[in-house]
Amino acid sequence: MTQFSSYSPENAPAAQHSGPYIDCRDLFKIYKRSELEVVALRGLDLSVEPGELIAIIGASGSGKSTLLNILAGLDRPSAGQVIVGTRDLLDVSDSDLVKYRRSEVGFVWQATARNLVPYLSVADNIELPMALAGQPAKARRAWSGELLESLGMIEKRYRFPYQLSGGEQQRAAIAVGLANKPPLLLADEPTGELDTENADSIFEMIRGLNRSFGVTVVTVTHYPGVSRFVDRVVHIRDGRIGSETFSRPDYRRDGDTVEDEYVVVDQAGRLQLPLEYTDHFRHGGLARIQSDGGKIIIEPPDSNPRPSRTRPSQNRS
Ligand code: ADP
Ligand code: MG
Repeated sequence: MTQFSSYSPENAPAAQHSGPYIDCRDLFKIYKRSELEVVALRGLDLSVEPGELIAIIGASGSGKSTLLNILAGLDRPSAGQVIVGTRDLLDVSDSDLVKYRRSEVGFVWQATARNLVPYLSVADNIELPMALAGQPAKARRAWSGELLESLGMIEKRYRFPYQLSGGEQQRAAIAVGLANKPPLLLADEPTGELDTENADSIFEMIRGLNRSFGVTVVTVTHYPGVSRFVDRVVHIRDGRIGSETFSRPDYRRDGDTVEDEYVVVDQAGRLQLPLEYTDHFRHGGLARIQSDGGKIIIEPPDSNPRPSRTRPSQNRS
């Protein structure tokens, strides 16, 4: 992959920030539809380092898109803290949010058709956000050319989206996302409509972009092979981070990556048991916890007599 000469180093988040680039603490998002409230994020904690490449996985409805939309400035959080770079997204003015969306973050949707303007060529699609940001025509042409060259798409620059394959459309979409050289790229299931081969090449490309100019990347995906391409896989469940998996490339053998999975203990000391253990516990019930030297043991209470969460006075009277 070509180095992106014009993605200037001072634009790279790593050069600007000490501490995490994304810092979500006890983040809540509640959707209200008439009388109904849906808690899409419930006390989510997540830190992402500058230049890190992470994947978020989780069941449908677990809050992945909600989180990404908040990070993209497309939706506002209900409570908690979410800081991206130097911006507090809970407390940002509408006009600042527009600036943020335009120049600080690139976004790629799953639906290929949603990412590109159908009646503009690939090059014009890339140059449109640059024009909106006030970039002169010469700089626009130069950067779109450089991006397309790097993505192996230069000969497709005059094509319209309908003349591209799904994989090519997503490549073009990533180029559009990087048009204004944002320090952060977000992608919501970018390979959801692609086959394995195309998915591999898209993630390979995203990793190349991340490595070549330090753009921080958060991608939501169902793609099982994603751990080979990212620094960390974050598992979201019921609107909270349950566990994280780290790939250790130093232990890579025969193409297999050894992965360590860790349960996340959040700021308030809460942890979410991995699903395979929850059957041992009564939901909403009690657990016994004790420390044994270096280990902490969490076990279901003795089944006989079974502690109850209802107050004794209620039971007896
Ligand atoms: P995922 O992307 O992990 O599938 P989402 O973030 O889209 O999950 O949704 C999380 C929860 O929030 C779901 O229960 C979903 O129905 C709800 N939700 C998402 N967007 C809205 C909305 N605009 N209005 C009401 N509920 C929503
Ligand atoms: Mg989603």
